[in-house]
Amino acid sequence: EQIITKNFIEQIIDADLEAGMDAIATRFPPEPNGYLHIGHAKSIFLNFGLAKKYDGTCFLRFDDTNPIKEEDEYVESIQRDVAWLGAVWDGEVRFASDYFDAFYDMAESLIEKGLAYVDDQTAEEMHKHRGTLTEPGVESPYRDRSVEENLSLFRQMRDGAFADGEKVLRAKIDMASPNMNMRDPAIYRILHASHHRTGDKWCIYPMYDYAHPLEDAIEGITHSLCTLEFEDHRPLYNWFIDHLADSPHLKSKPQQIEFARLEIENTMTSKRRLKALVDAQLVDGWDDPRLPTISGLRRRGYTPAALKEFCQRIGVAKTNSIVEQNYLTFCLREDLNRVAPRAMAVLNPLKLTLTNYPEDQIEWVEGVVNPNDESMGTYQIPFGKHLYIEQEDFREEANRKYHRLKPGGEVRLMYGYIIKCEDYVKDPETGEITEVLCSYDPMTKSGMPDADRKVKGTLHWVEATHAVDAEVHLLDDLMDPDQAADADILDRFNKDSLEVLKGCKCEPRLAEAPIGQAYQFMRKGYYCADRKYHTPEAPVFNLTVGLRDKFKG
Ligand code: ATP
Ligand code: MG
Ligand code: MG
Repeated sequence: EQIITKNFIEQIIDADLEAGMDAIATRFPPEPNGYLHIGHAKSIFLNFGLAKKYDGTCFLRFDDTNPIKEEDEYVESIQRDVAWLGAVWDGEVRFASDYFDAFYDMAESLIEKGLAYVDDQTAEEMHKHRGTLTEPGVESPYRDRSVEENLSLFRQMRDGAFADGEKVLRAKIDMASPNMNMRDPAIYRILHASHHRTGDKWCIYPMYDYAHPLEDAIEGITHSLCTLEFEDHRPLYNWFIDHLADSPHLKSKPQQIEFARLEIENTMTSKRRLKALVDAQLVDGWDDPRLPTISGLRRRGYTPAALKEFCQRIGVAKTNSIVEQNYLTFCLREDLNRVAPRAMAVLNPLKLTLTNYPEDQIEWVEGVVNPNDESMGTYQIPFGKHLYIEQEDFREEANRKYHRLKPGGEVRLMYGYIIKCEDYVKDPETGEITEVLCSYDPMTKSGMPDADRKVKGTLHWVEATHAVDAEVHLLDDLMDPDQAADADILDRFNKDSLEVLKGCKCEPRLAEAPIGQAYQFMRKGYYCADRKYHTPEAPVFNLTVGLRDKFKG
């Protein structure tokens, strides 16, 4: 019998339900300041997965409290990516900015309770007076303003009476707290900036640590999952919830639970740094197939199923760790092996002529779409006198271990005949091999008497008169593994991460590939029709992943 172990979050939820909680409510709360990346996928599968498992709800909420960095383009891309991963949010999409009035209202009530004050210190002064881990901070000279004065100043802040940075509203907690986050954190700052949704209505904006717990409680969230670096923000999260518990705006008393963020070796999971690469135009937009953004992974040929399986396998933990890339590519190959049709494509073509095959004859051989899934059926592949094979599949001089084509040697053509290399043509000037001449043995085709004759090597090939020219993009690590992890992202960019092959030869059916369609190019790896550039007239394929780990290969 299978032993099912629950992760620590599920154990907390079980206990809460046992103690009488009706239903759980989670949320995925991205800030729309960039495109989602694979780290977000972990949070998406976790939050939406828990809601599904426990028959609860999960909202998609945009945490759009910082007008400077937020854009509608990001709001749209995030919805697309979350939906593509298969997550279904409850009801309408939510925006933190919908709660700006409530946040403001609650800030006034903190002032009325004597729990917040307007500070005139400059940012530098406040920073200087914050103290250190071993030394308490210094209380602001404005800390003891009366409720009336604070209310009046806060309203003036709201009404635009002051310039950016001239004043802030701070929570009045404890300047000597050992937790730096509790030393009178800022609640509201002045920012004369247009917001992507509220326009110029506001010139003060709430700080993340204030807004986030209130967003959760306004929406009735029960379990607010976030990454570990917020662990020492939790007392502040609770402070706001507790001191505003009497507010009519708040529906629940959510609990913040931290889990380890997903980090993958040599993979950049920071929106800010990814944006730097996009802005510097070192990559082809946010969906460049080398990027670990969800849209980049999609364009690369990743499947939602592979990403989900990966996130489930790595699980949720309370300590940070770095996951090997092979973990991810393993899950991807496993899924693609299941779903991807097989095809033949020759990336670096070399002409091969069957000297004893009739000149104008074309026959159709039967290929298996996917040997793991009989229901995917078979298909017809043209075969004839003029073929292409990979340059690397022929060697003029080769030792006995080389089982591909060599002078006098035999190989089988996949789905076809056994052929023997009789001769080859070499450019006298460049020394380049331009053509291989072979004889074929008509008795060795499937169904013929010698079909079972064994030869060591089997090559893929494409018939020349039907072949379709394609461009293939070979993709390598986005970041140069030899650069230090803390080096500037633009310096870490691997300049050799994209190699464009032109004039690759494909089976004709590949031209008709729907965009995004994955294939296994036999003996070469998994490839997919590029979502941006592929057309039937000019096919373009991306390397999704090789057939084996590159380290073990
Ligand atoms: P970034 O630093 O890349 O901008 P972020 O955490 O600031 O990431 P948000 O838009 O605030 O991005 O994230 C939305 C949610 O996704 C948050 O709940 C956050 O904890 C989660 N998340 C972000 N990155 C990761 C990660 N690497 N692993 C797991 N969860 C993550
Ligand atoms: Mg964030
Ligand atoms: Mg961030």
